[in-house]
Amino acid sequence: MNNNLFLHNGFNKKQTPFYYYDVKCLIDTLTLMNQKLEPYPNFHVHYALKANANLRILSLINSYISGVDCVSGGEIRAAIEAGFDPSDIVFAGVGKADWEIKYALECGIYCFNVESEEELEVINSLAAQWNLVAKVALRINPDVGAHTNANIATGLAENKFGISMQHMDAVIDKAFILDHVKFIGLHFHIGSQILEMNDFVALCNRINELQDRLEAHHINIEYINVGGGLGIDYDDPLQHPFPDFESYFSTYNKFLKVHPYQTVHFELGRSIVGQCGDLISRVLYVKKGMNKQFAILDAGMTDLIRPALYHAHHYIENISSELPEELYDVVGPVCESSDVFGKDIRLNWVERGDFIAIESAGAYGESMASCYNCRPLPKSYLSCDFDNE
Ligand SMILES: *Cc1c(COP(=O)(O)O)cnc(C)c1O
Repeated sequence: MNNNLFLHNGFNKKQTPFYYYDVKCLIDTLTLMNQKLEPYPNFHVHYALKANANLRILSLINSYISGVDCVSGGEIRAAIEAGFDPSDIVFAGVGKADWEIKYALECGIYCFNVESEEELEVINSLAAQWNLVAKVALRINPDVGAHTNANIATGLAENKFGISMQHMDAVIDKAFILDHVKFIGLHFHIGSQILEMNDFVALCNRINELQDRLEAHHINIEYINVGGGLGIDYDDPLQHPFPDFESYFSTYNKFLKVHPYQTVHFELGRSIVGQCGDLISRVLYVKKGMNKQFAILDAGMTDLIRPALYHAHHYIENISSELPEELYDVVGPVCESSDVFGKDIRLNWVERGDFIAIESAGAYGESMASCYNCRPLPKSYLSCDFDNE
């Protein structure tokens, strides 16, 4: 966001805090992604809905991406409501409840990403009740680390996700025995906010190994889902508003062995929506501490929990002021010491009532908001809502 945005007088009339989504940024990101995908006809992107489930954002995404990755029954419902076709939905998650599996079967989703042998049996028996055959991919834990926050790494043997490589053959054998599931492929997801392409290379190497192992047993899969995880630049979003889709897809093209009859699915969340959203808040108070000063916002961890949960860093700007900079600890009003957006943040001189923008908040922001302290959920606006103001 740049200071000019504040010239939207519209902000003044809104109750803060709220999410502000820049439609142009989102469309430019989606257009760039599709452009970088074009050379690879076997590659398909499914939007990872948990990153942002705002209905208006979803509908917009749906006009550029047909597939969607859901991790709950509620997300399947939201995807369908936003216009996604059930046959383009994949359903992942380590703990799918019976009602969620039934709902997904009823909707006719494309595929379940199955995370345990027990889940496979449950899907088989629920599908049998309606005499259906559910397509399944097995989520394999590839024991591949990622250079990211430990809380958002998912591909190590110690993580709860997926079926271990040792157990994989047995679960595939089981899938072939069961009548109401059809095994179509493998699914992986090593974590989020990954900027090192070498982490994805390590995943490709592991997938190639596993494929060779299957092919030695004359098992050919039609579907490889490599998950998501491509990161964005939280430090300098103004200079780097777009993720490096080109390196990402070309890395997979170079290192993943893909047969002509196979499709490769990517499940991108953060990289699609991360940079298009800002959390806009007003300063309630500027408080002098012993050796520091606090800018106390009306937005808190209930609106954007990433800093409190992952020690995540967001670029923060005072969009109301061009006065000289000072250092502030930028904090929320919630009764938790972890309700801090950033320490020693350089901001233009802050006064009560100034608008503070917390940038790169489009992913895992609004979708993770809570009502702790009986606070209302944050509202949201698209940039086009201000066009006539
Ligand atoms: C969260 C998640 C994603 C999306 O991750 P991003 O880092 O937002 O791209 C993809 N696949 C699965 C299975 C997930 O749980």
